[in-house]
Amino acid sequence: DTIENRLFQNRYIVDTGQPHIRVTPHETPSEALQSMVHVCPAGCYSKNEHGQVEIVADGCMECGTCRVVCQDTGEIEWSYPRGGFGVLFKFG
Ligand code: SF4
Repeated sequence: DTIENRLFQNRYIVDTGQPHIRVTPHETPSEALQSMVHVCPAGCYSKNEHGQVEIVADGCMECGTCRVVCQDTGEIEWSYPRGGFGVLFKFG
């Protein structure tokens, strides 16, 4: 049973109207925010051509890592998705 198999079993409903993680506008990202490009297990973060960090949260697994890593920088606004959206873990 690989992690990919287990991840595949999670259904994901994209809440297109309301992304639940936002990177606030910035000129230069902090070290913490820059690290998310490599740290996010879902690869949601990327750097644009201006060196700013962007997020596309569609594949987010809601692990909470980015919230913890950037909790002191104020660069990420993180909120739980509305009920019925986000990762629905499949049991059994
Ligand atoms: Fe990536 Fe986890 Fe943050 Fe989602 S919660 S964007 S998976 S680090």
